[in-house]
Amino acid sequence: MLGDKIIVCRDCGTEFTFTAGEQTFYANRGLQNEPSRCSSCRTTRKFNRLFQDEEEPSGYVNYGTFASFGGRTPRQMHTATCAQCGQATEVPFRPRGDRPVYCSDCYSRIRGQ
Ligand SMILES: [Zn+2]
Ligand SMILES: [Zn+2]
Repeated sequence: MLGDKIIVCRDCGTEFTFTAGEQTFYANRGLQNEPSRCSSCRTTRKFNRLFQDEEEPSGYVNYGTFASFGGRTPRQMHTATCAQCGQATEVPFRPRGDRPVYCSDCYSRIRGQ
């Protein structure tokens, strides 16, 4: 028999209940790992991932999306080195090293090819 479990969120440290029902749900879907974050942190992460995915195909942000999103301010810019010409540039996402970052000149040149 499954019982409720108290788990401490690894992001915010809040204790949350992993209920027997949720455990069954997880088990039925073949998920081995317990959730390690509370529902609000999970929602936040899902949200961030949504934005991440949206940015990645182009590498350059469309501020229209963010502007329309609850009137939040544009995201923080990160400095990066253009993989093409080596110049410093700014990108709206944190460069992760697993894909090249280009300055706007090189980027439009590459896109134009
Ligand atoms: Zn949390
Ligand atoms: Zn460049």
